Amino acid sequence: MDAIADATPMMRQYRELKARDPEALLLFRMGDFYEMFGDDAERAGELLGLTVTSRDKGPNAVPMAGFPHPALESYLAKLVAAGVRAAVCEQVEDPKTAKGLVKREIVRIVTPGTLTDEALLDPRASNHLAAVVEVKGKLGLAWVELSTARFTLTSTHRLEIQDEIARLAPAELLIAETAVDAPWVRALRAAAPGMTITPRPSWDFLADQARQLLCEQFRVSTLSGFGVNDDAIEIQAAGALLAYLRETQKSALLHLRRLHVHRREEVLGLDETTRRGLELTRTLREGKRDGSLLHAIDLTVTPMGARLLAEWLNAPLTNLDALRRRHDAVGDLVEDAALREELRRGLATIQDLERLAGRMGTGRATPRDLVGLARSLAALPTLKARLTARRSAALRQLEAQLDLCPEIRQAIDETMVDDPPLALKEGGLIRDGFHPLLDELRDIASGGKSWIARFQAEQIRRTGIPSLKVGFNKVFGYYIEVTHQHQSKVPPDFIRKQTVKNAERYITAELKEYEDRVLRAEDQARELEYELFIQLRDRVAAEAPRLVQVGEALAQLDVLAALAELAARRGYRRPELVSEPILKIVAGRHPVLDILMPEGRFIPNDLDLGGDSGTILLLTGPNMAGKSTYIRQAAVLCILAQMGSFLPVKSATIGLVDRIFARVGASDELGRGQSTFMVEMTETANILHNATARSLVILDEIGRGTSTFDGVSLAWAIAEYLHDVIGCRALFATHYHELVDLETVKPGLRNANVSVLEQNGEIVFLHRIVPGGADQSYGIHVARLAGVPNPVLERAKAILAQLEAQHRRMGESAAHSHSDASRSSEGRAASGTTCTNASAAVAVPGLRRVKTGKGMQASLFAALPDPILDELAAVDPETLDPQAALDLIRRLKQLA
Ligand code: ADP
Repeated sequence: MDAIADATPMMRQYRELKARDPEALLLFRMGDFYEMFGDDAERAGELLGLTVTSRDKGPNAVPMAGFPHPALESYLAKLVAAGVRAAVCEQVEDPKTAKGLVKREIVRIVTPGTLTDEALLDPRASNHLAAVVEVKGKLGLAWVELSTARFTLTSTHRLEIQDEIARLAPAELLIAETAVDAPWVRALRAAAPGMTITPRPSWDFLADQARQLLCEQFRVSTLSGFGVNDDAIEIQAAGALLAYLRETQKSALLHLRRLHVHRREEVLGLDETTRRGLELTRTLREGKRDGSLLHAIDLTVTPMGARLLAEWLNAPLTNLDALRRRHDAVGDLVEDAALREELRRGLATIQDLERLAGRMGTGRATPRDLVGLARSLAALPTLKARLTARRSAALRQLEAQLDLCPEIRQAIDETMVDDPPLALKEGGLIRDGFHPLLDELRDIASGGKSWIARFQAEQIRRTGIPSLKVGFNKVFGYYIEVTHQHQSKVPPDFIRKQTVKNAERYITAELKEYEDRVLRAEDQARELEYELFIQLRDRVAAEAPRLVQVGEALAQLDVLAALAELAARRGYRRPELVSEPILKIVAGRHPVLDILMPEGRFIPNDLDLGGDSGTILLLTGPNMAGKSTYIRQAAVLCILAQMGSFLPVKSATIGLVDRIFARVGASDELGRGQSTFMVEMTETANILHNATARSLVILDEIGRGTSTFDGVSLAWAIAEYLHDVIGCRALFATHYHELVDLETVKPGLRNANVSVLEQNGEIVFLHRIVPGGADQSYGIHVARLAGVPNPVLERAKAILAQLEAQHRRMGESAAHSHSDASRSSEGRAASGTTCTNASAAVAVPGLRRVKTGKGMQASLFAALPDPILDELAAVDPETLDPQAALDLIRRLKQLA
């Protein structure tokens, strides 16, 4: 490479540019192609499927790969998807006029977290760039959505950073190069799969430097105006972020004017497991948006609204006043259907103003962006007029925030044609009548063409050559063409230029002069158009912060109108929000199943937690009855209420929740190298450490990953702890029927089960939650529904009957030896999984007939009907002589 690099001036230029950002894949513009060399070519070959060739053969061969320039966006998209940083190098002067080597510059660096191009972004999803810094166990976190100017920071600690990163799911994360291999960084990788981690120089994170950079960007002398101390650790992360943006964007970032401080206590806490388990934005199994809660409730009509809705869902509020404002606004829009319709229709015509503002701010707006902006602004006056004098404060405030930006709109309308081309430098951008000189140049350019027609007619008349033609080609310019046949009539002032088949071509002084004027005028017009466009773009860019603000207002309006539309379409009601820890729901539905299932098929259910009703609900019942759906529904309804939505209920009173912990569904944790049970217990430990009296805990089949008795005991102890120590609202779904006894010893705990109709040996799940513990597990019925073969079902039934009989016998004998055994047969059959052996039984307070040690496993097997065991049970070894013993062994062997 070096030999080649030094061999030609161009390769020297390449090497110089490459050295400016060695990590980035350099796309080097050469004429109509982008070329990559050396290692970059090999990487591009692999990632983009390009053919790697080499110009010179031999030992100094340099691999190269390239693609034609119009394919840039699609190849950038692939590179970004692969997490690669790409530096785009352009020719910054016209090769025609360049003296010597064409000047080239890196004009932008494209990285997964710093995208602004429409083609590279999912319009309905945010694209975050984040930075984390750690100082003495404390963490500073900052994130930005460059395309919309949302720049936020917060401080956090190691236990929570993973949840924050899971919530943001950044496309790219900046970490000081000295920290990239730290264990906490490794844990972050797992929290957001697909995130690119970019190591950055440690000095970017230095406090003084960071503060100075931020103050300069936001034009302030202290950051305290944004609500953050100048020495806060998150400033260091934010500074590193800004340094990276400046380096990659090579622009003034005019739209970044505000810092937001994220206060965790103002947001309902949802850890990573809870988000996943409740399928808030992705489904658990396939990780798709389809089927998630977000997908079910998203009726927004603009991309900005769609992104904000996801943000609200990811960060529900804990502030009563703020929530009431949202609910008031939704209520206003539910009631006034005409207004809602009109707003939604208006919003649907508006482009992604936030991202347009982002492209303005980074100096990357296209002519079509500007025209799109003007068209979008044109829709604002009607929206604003419709919003005046609304009842809810939130709508009134949005109305005030809708800056119509009339001068921006007017400037664009006056300047730009209605339908500009994509290209910036080919002309055709600026309206006739906008600029006198441009009009004049255009006149000359087009007038020149009609002049040529006139000139041709005149020459035909003068020479008497009827076939004389005036033409144009790129190499020779304008010419007069005369066929060989008429050569004799050519006048002396024709200067011969070129001979072609059958004809000669000439030029005259007059024609040359016109040609120069026309061509010059065309060139000048194009240049002037470009200049005027850039002037306009700069002028609009200076207003980018205003546009960002309008975009934010529109996004909110869209979300509120979408929530109102959802409420109207699906009969959602406004929840009553209170601060007391209660949770009362009448006829609640699960929002996702409610939409997925045919109308009326989803059975609504009530819930009553808190106050006199107890804070913990223990739900038992057969598999497939709807336990899991019911407990998730409770959590999901709280989240919806606290994001500002109405609820699929007849009525609901929701005491604000500070955190929700959901341990539901079997998550596939094999990839993380931990056993399912270990993961379950780690998550449970997290809940027990962090839940407060204001939290809501949802536990589905806790303890199922271990042996029955371990599982029952753990589930029991966990329920007790939540009840006695934490005192939070909690819903437990379990098939451990033993737990129903907790109700008798814990006043704040109630049993419920899912009612099942049994008809002629068949069962029908009614999906209705009723008070009291469940009767049977119906496991065999579910196995039949699932298609388990008949012989297996029959055998299982026989075993079950045997186990139950044995359990009854033992229950009876235990009744004599245990004081609490009087409750043992209260209207419920034993689950079939607990077997007793009176001698091994230990008394757990409130828990019947549970034993420890090997006896438990032995007792399970002892219960199986087995002729060998029956026979063995019948013999008394003390009375057997050796012959009889031998005979017995032979008989047993035959039975085996
Ligand atoms: P469990 O947790 O008891 O095993 P699930 O909650 O997973 O049961 O529910 C099993 C299935 O029953 C769900 O996939 C759904 O199709 C149906 N189901 C659950 N709850 C209801 C309901 N309230 N109304 C109608 N169908 C329901």
